[in-house]
Amino acid sequence: MEAMLYEKLPNLKVKCLVCSHYCILNDRKKGICGVRKNIDGEMHVLNYGKTVASSIDPIEKKPLYHFLKGTNSYSFATAGCNMRCPWCQNYAISQSPKKLTFTKEFEISPKEHVRRALHYQCPSISYTYTEPTIFLEYAYDTMVLAKKEGLKNIWVTNGFMSEETLELILPLLDAANVDYKGKGDVYQKYCSGNAEAILRNMKIMKEAGVHLEVTTLLIPGVNDKLDDIQSLVNDLVTFLGDDTIWHISRFFPAYQMKDLPITPKNTLLKAKEIGHSAGLKRIYLGNI
Ligand code: SF4
Repeated sequence: MEAMLYEKLPNLKVKCLVCSHYCILNDRKKGICGVRKNIDGEMHVLNYGKTVASSIDPIEKKPLYHFLKGTNSYSFATAGCNMRCPWCQNYAISQSPKKLTFTKEFEISPKEHVRRALHYQCPSISYTYTEPTIFLEYAYDTMVLAKKEGLKNIWVTNGFMSEETLELILPLLDAANVDYKGKGDVYQKYCSGNAEAILRNMKIMKEAGVHLEVTTLLIPGVNDKLDDIQSLVNDLVTFLGDDTIWHISRFFPAYQMKDLPITPKNTLLKAKEIGHSAGLKRIYLGNI
């Protein structure tokens, strides 16, 4: 199907407006995410309606600790991601379109997702497991129907969507957990993306009244130096305020980073201390 947000350029080129990569693609080329393709000068979405994972999760697993506490959230994803973090726990589905590996997909309509959420008495739908930005059209159609049924919409996201995408979804978005890895060189070196766009997007969400919680996976040798943590905490306080809810998550070896150690418990406790010293009041340790 044709994508929602893109520009046609001369010579059958297109510019995708869905995430902050803003890929410019020649005819027959796919974007960084591997799920958007220029076909004859039109941008097409390759993953609409193709669910690779769906489940009913406690909302605390997103993690959201201060939104619809104690409820379950109906959750689903398509394959694909606009980042390529080498520690991704869900790499089998997030990276499969880029690597052209097989992922079993199920055709499930937005209406069916909403029906299931209602049937299982979930008061919310979470767009999660991979990056919802790259399945924008599928998520958007589901969000519209969910809203009509009184369900809340939650994005669990890397926060690297474009401002155009954010503007489109904000009226439908109730809560988000954004993964923030810190300024340093983490995004450039490991993931693709940049911290500035993510901080901007979190600020926009917060100002629009979206319930926001932030998660940081602390990875040994990647973003666990005390200076890095201090700078990350400063970002949260400066951009979002000291009422920011911050989840510090423990790294376990995965994907291309199986040789790294588990984050020492002491590092997590130190990060918590740094956060508290900077004024953050609600800090939670995860995977511990
Ligand atoms: S969603 Fe992002 S990564 Fe995918 S084509 Fe668009 S700009 Fe590129």
